[in-house]
Amino acid sequence: MSDEDLEDGDYQNSLETDFRKVEDKPEVPKKKKKQRILNGVKVWDRDPKVAQRAIKKALFQCEFDINHSTFISSVSKENYVEAHHLIPMKFQNDFENVSLDTESNILALCPNCHRMIHHSRPKEKKLLLKEFYEKRKDQLHNLGIEFSLVNLNNFYGMK
Ligand SMILES: [Zn+2]
Ligand SMILES: [Zn+2]
Repeated sequence: MSDEDLEDGDYQNSLETDFRKVEDKPEVPKKKKKQRILNGVKVWDRDPKVAQRAIKKALFQCEFDINHSTFISSVSKENYVEAHHLIPMKFQNDFENVSLDTESNILALCPNCHRMIHHSRPKEKKLLLKEFYEKRKDQLHNLGIEFSLVNLNNFYGMK
């Protein structure tokens, strides 16, 4: 199981909740966490509550296009979206003092856009990344997470 499979499997399920109970806390820089070994693979822990706050803040809308409606989740009774870490957690060690598991680094995406950012051709991927880079770079900068669009493309295996 790879780091990214984890984001897409149990992790997404763990986000399904009654969002009325999710507090709207202001985002504060979080300390880098320790890596954990899960089934022999090193993983960075992700806090479902952080992603739930990010999804709630995005009003359960796909952040690539708010018109991407999906279906109503049986658990949350909201438009179903998934959480994606813009800077993938596996690059945590590139950022020494601050956790990448933070609201500003988490995008709410419809399942199609979520698959797209993982599996599409470079042309489409770059389009998504440019959009999200512009959307989040200032917020991430304010948390001490510095990166360029070139860095971001590199994180996704592109120049
Ligand atoms: Zn993802
Ligand atoms: Zn979408």
